[in-house]
Amino acid sequence: MSQRWVCLDVGETLIDETRVWSIWADELGVPRLTFLAALGAVIERGGEHRDVFPIFGADDWRLRMASVEDAYGGFQAHDLYPDALRGLDCLRDAGYRLAIVANQPASRADELRAIGVDAEVMAMSEGMEVAKPHPAFFAKARELMGGPQPGSVAYVGDRIDNDVLPSARAGMRAVWLRRGPWGVIQRPPDGVQPALSVDSLDELIERIGEAWDDRFIAK
Ligand SMILES: [Mg+2]
Repeated sequence: MSQRWVCLDVGETLIDETRVWSIWADELGVPRLTFLAALGAVIERGGEHRDVFPIFGADDWRLRMASVEDAYGGFQAHDLYPDALRGLDCLRDAGYRLAIVANQPASRADELRAIGVDAEVMAMSEGMEVAKPHPAFFAKARELMGGPQPGSVAYVGDRIDNDVLPSARAGMRAVWLRRGPWGVIQRPPDGVQPALSVDSLDELIERIGEAWDDRFIAK
């Protein structure tokens, strides 16, 4: 069995989060376009997603999480990007070992399994008690995989700040998936190049071999 691992993020990597952000807009009584554009502005200036709430005076957003989750009902099959299941199957067929380790509530792992997503290792930050971009998140992820060399793990995610930079610093092959709001707005800092950049998991399947080319390891 190959000892090369592909470890994937969840939000905007496997799951299209349009629905949950739209529910947040509805919850706050803000037109969806206005809310989503404001989220884009927050991303552009390097903020965290929670920074969008004060723009609409919703400092009480944590109190609204249960209501949003009720309306959301967890991940559903139609939230999956169309290439998600196909991408995982193709990577598995190509001999890669698969992990899904992401910043998510603990319940999301079972929700993913219920919609057909599976991997040898599935762990969510809430259950791990550490989150990206902390270095301990990537150390813990590797531990859960059984301790492969970091250079034999490709970490696939959409965010430069939470996925590409910290996984590269952890010695992994950082694969940047340029989709979702972070993926289309963020840019790598000067002098930093992901091991591989792709626009879809379909493209990843075609090009994953390039992630192991030492010439392209991010500094
Ligand atoms: Mg993500």
